[in-house]
Amino acid sequence: MTQTLEWTNAVFLSEVERRSGTPVGACLQCHKCSTGCPVAPEMDLLSSQVMRMVQLGQEEEVLASNAIWLCASCEACTTRCPMGIDIAGAMDTLRMLAVERKAAVPDKRVKRFNDSFLQSVRWHGRVFELGMMTAYKLRTRDFFSDVDKVPKMFAKRKLSLLPHFSAAAKKVRQAFKRAEEEEKKR
Ligand code: SF4
Ligand code: SF4
Repeated sequence: MTQTLEWTNAVFLSEVERRSGTPVGACLQCHKCSTGCPVAPEMDLLSSQVMRMVQLGQEEEVLASNAIWLCASCEACTTRCPMGIDIAGAMDTLRMLAVERKAAVPDKRVKRFNDSFLQSVRWHGRVFELGMMTAYKLRTRDFFSDVDKVPKMFAKRKLSLLPHFSAAAKKVRQAFKRAEEEEKKR
């Protein structure tokens, strides 16, 4: 029984390490990553807890957490880690695994936001905020939340009516296509 458990732990840990390219197994639970995380108060698991649970092979719990989706990829944790673990990269890998394994996402808005964001980047080579917000609202049918902020964002030039295409838009579309082909091979 113990052997089976150890084997299972190792499988999940080594998969996360291989795909993220970072040694999650080296985490010594100093919690420096969690104390510097700006999103920690909203997360159901702290980043240090996520690293520990990956070590223990608690795949189901980790992939169903809201922490991996709320992570803003700011890399504050990665720069603070004394063991040189790229926690932000590991979180990215965990999100990919959650999608691939169709893990239950705690809040359905998270996936809808993610889809809207990626779709916008795919089309324009960068995010077109107004288009992304419209796509998100259509997906969630939540048409009225935050609309009061729109005039202020226009006034501060944070939103534009028309999209700006990145000079690398074609390359970005090709990258998305390659990623889809790679995904089919898995
Ligand atoms: S990358 Fe994610 S987990 Fe790390 S500090 Fe930023 S929000 Fe927190
Ligand atoms: S800072 Fe690094 S070693 Fe410390 S708990 Fe976070 S991941 Fe583990």
